[in-house]
Amino acid sequence: MKREATAAQTCLQLQSQYPSKVALPNTTEYIYENSEYWNVLNSLSPACIVNPSSADDVSAFVKTFTGAEIPFAVRGGGHMTALDSNNINSTGILISADNLTSLALSDDKQTLSVGPGNRWVDVYQYLSPYGIAVPGGRIGIVGVPGLLLGGGMSYFSGQYGFSSTSVKAYEVVLANGEIVTATANNSFSDLHWALKGGGNSFGIVTRFDLQTHPAPYTYIGMNAYNPLEISQWLDAIYNFATYGQTEYPEAAVIPFSNYIPNLSPVPVPTTIVFYDSKTPLGGVNATALQNFSAPRLTPLTSTYVKRDMYAWSQELDPASSALKGDRQRFHALTAFNSPDTVQTIHNTFMAVAEQMISIVTGVEAALAIMPVSKNWVEQSNAGAGDPMGLDESKAPYIFVEQSLTWGLPVDDATIENFVTVVNQQLNAVLDAKGLKSSFLYLNDADGGQPVFQGYKPENVAKLKAIREKYDPKRIYTDLMPGGWKVADVES
Ligand SMILES: Cc1cc2nc3c(=O)[nH]c(=O)nc-3n(C[C@H](O)[C@H](O)[C@H](O)COP(=O)(O)OP(=O)(O)OC[C@H]3O[C@@H](n4cnc5c(N)ncnc54)[C@H](O)[C@@H]3O)c2cc1C
Repeated sequence: MKREATAAQTCLQLQSQYPSKVALPNTTEYIYENSEYWNVLNSLSPACIVNPSSADDVSAFVKTFTGAEIPFAVRGGGHMTALDSNNINSTGILISADNLTSLALSDDKQTLSVGPGNRWVDVYQYLSPYGIAVPGGRIGIVGVPGLLLGGGMSYFSGQYGFSSTSVKAYEVVLANGEIVTATANNSFSDLHWALKGGGNSFGIVTRFDLQTHPAPYTYIGMNAYNPLEISQWLDAIYNFATYGQTEYPEAAVIPFSNYIPNLSPVPVPTTIVFYDSKTPLGGVNATALQNFSAPRLTPLTSTYVKRDMYAWSQELDPASSALKGDRQRFHALTAFNSPDTVQTIHNTFMAVAEQMISIVTGVEAALAIMPVSKNWVEQSNAGAGDPMGLDESKAPYIFVEQSLTWGLPVDDATIENFVTVVNQQLNAVLDAKGLKSSFLYLNDADGGQPVFQGYKPENVAKLKAIREKYDPKRIYTDLMPGGWKVADVES
């Protein structure tokens, strides 16, 4: 109670100081900001919500919270599903990035500077006239900062690695309020490295400078297949991970199987297929995508055409947005690629889903089985590499994202039980076959999953030292508790 009173009092003080930048409970702006969450369970009703419009504002707010010992959270696009990762209850204050929406392209068009209040669709709209791209989210509605701080899986990752590989500079508000710019070559190069997948333990990023890439002829669309052809579809995933993206790094796929009992009693295999062609017509019948295309695997429906990421966002975002604000759960798993891996993961997950959640109201279970090829890992590890430090010799990997959406609180326990049971089975069977990797992709992880424990141990030690150097008082660990904290990993 005392903490709530302190937070509320600080909110009133801040409001008199920054009237247009502080939203108090029950105001229209507060209600809007508190509902900007993919997972409704993260609408936690903080004491107030501050909307900085510059790095200086962020610095001032952080200093105030630190001085008054008020817990706080920071939120970009609000798409992280893990509970409490991006908001805080009424004992604390939320920093929203919604007014940090700068976008600027350098004169030579090599660098795009992006404020953390942007979503990827804003970035793609801005870049659309130029025929260039940055390796960002594969769907427009996702926020820029969370995706980049957790690594970032992009359609361009076969060519350029995780999205964070393309971050040339981060402008960061450190725990003491100092504003610094971290690049790979300046005196903050350790911080630059840590932010390429180390999450939110190091500072609040107020600008990302991204390397752009030419991409005038991208092709993209969604293919849905006959459920009777699931086995061939799973083989296509295996082949793409091992051969397709290795030979053709400009190709990408997101294969996912959708189990929506209201629409179909069986899972429907679906794939987003992407090709960054180097010639105007190169995406037509692209060899890299043949296993996902007729005549090998004939889609029942396909929207694959030449268009840029902005046009793609306009197709995909409205349908995806329909799920925003439902009850959501993600759970991550990583395995080594083999024909058995993909079949085992799919068949185990769906068998348990059909048994345990078919009667959950409004349930949608999507199982994304995502190839991470050797060249993807090599690109990410080039130079200083990133904190994730995936082992090239063990690639290709399969990143699995289990995504659950449901409607009613009464079903929370059933979902919880399902996630526990299905993952016990998946882990046991993959472990027994020597197919399980301990890596967990931060951006798709569930609250409580041991993300940093799956990073390379020497990288975790390095991350911990960097955190200690820039935030000795543990402001971004203890006072800003949401999200995965590298300090929580036991030595
Ligand atoms: C529909 C959907 C599609 C997705 N597609 C992809 C995809 O294609 N590729 C992929 O890699 N991932 C994808 N993800 C996962 C996504 O990358 C993560 O959810 C990511 O965290 C979202 O970024 P955000 O800014 O919206 O996150 P938020 O929820 O706003 O924040 C996530 C974390 O980052 C911290 N944070 C936010 N802003 C800052 C900042 N400025 N400085 C420091 N810390 C900050 C927050 O405190 C929080 O812990 C998807 C998720 C969803 C729900």
